[in-house]
Amino acid sequence: EDWKDRGAAVSMRKEVDAEGRTVIKSVKKGVRDFSFGRVLGEGSYSTVYLATDRQTLREYAVKVLEKKHIIKEKKIKYVNIEKNTLNRLTEHPGIVRLYYTFQDEASLYYVLDLCNGGELLGVLKKTGTFDVECTRFYGAQILDAIAYMHSRGVIHRDLKPENVLLDDQMHVKITDFGTAKLLPDPRDPRPPPEDASGPNGAHDDNRTASFVGTAEYVSPELLTDKSAGKPSDLWAFGCIIYQLLVGRPPFKAATEYLTFQKIVGLEYEFPAGFPPAARDLVERCLVLDPNRRLTVEHIKNHEFFDGQQFGKELWRIKAPRLR
Ligand code: ATP
Repeated sequence: EDWKDRGAAVSMRKEVDAEGRTVIKSVKKGVRDFSFGRVLGEGSYSTVYLATDRQTLREYAVKVLEKKHIIKEKKIKYVNIEKNTLNRLTEHPGIVRLYYTFQDEASLYYVLDLCNGGELLGVLKKTGTFDVECTRFYGAQILDAIAYMHSRGVIHRDLKPENVLLDDQMHVKITDFGTAKLLPDPRDPRPPPEDASGPNGAHDDNRTASFVGTAEYVSPELLTDKSAGKPSDLWAFGCIIYQLLVGRPPFKAATEYLTFQKIVGLEYEFPAGFPPAARDLVERCLVLDPNRRLTVEHIKNHEFFDGQQFGKELWRIKAPRLR
């Protein structure tokens, strides 16, 4: 099996050499460099632990994947997609950063940014709904992160409030890139790693034979043409904005099939009192034809985000109190 540690991060360490000179050496981190604490959460194929770097005392979230289980469940491809994608997205505060990867006989380890604030979904469930100010702030941070990942040739394909984590400042960190699609990187002449282009590997040119994502947020073009591109993430963004203001996603039914029917029929409603500027934004994101949907730049300039900062400044703003 391919467990190659392509692109694994290393840390720099100061050492004194035999002649007494200080030299900077790069050292690869391993399991023994961390002390493991409590379990932060569990996924279908992983357990996430709080862990501390013994040397720097910095805290991380370490995702541990059992090799046997991944092989048995045929998830090797997804594990590699997640790592390759995260290794491409290391320069944005709104995306969970992968610092190191390593392995032992039984497991793979991903050392990630610690997100103490939990999932945006959990926070939303506590408050029920967000007011316009909170929706604008979290919407702006999510959009800024989407803009960055798209600029680096990554389509997330499974954006939803569960995959938006929050750090100790209650700022956004997007996670779960296991079903992402890697386009050729505009800043990297090498082709994307093989098997990293989607569930169908190298043959997946803008098409995916199988459904990826979560029923409520899946775009109509994925259901009708089995294709997903940058606009698919902006469909999900429209669903998230609606959900923050209303407390539930726009398309929701008893079964996946019925949810899909609502999506392709654009069957959803705004409750009374839904803010008009937000309504206009959502209506322009939830457009069936992906080519007629708002782009990231359109959304940044939409009146709902009037006066909103994007870029570096946005990540220095104090998060609004949740209401
Ligand atoms: P599944 O694989 O079933 O879809 P998942 O994608 O949530 O689940 P993981 O990414 O392994 O699986 O995460 C498991 C849980 O650990 C999450 O629900 C989340 O609460 C927690 N978690 C994941 N990453 C972090 C992180 N960087 N910081 C803090 N907690 C995290």
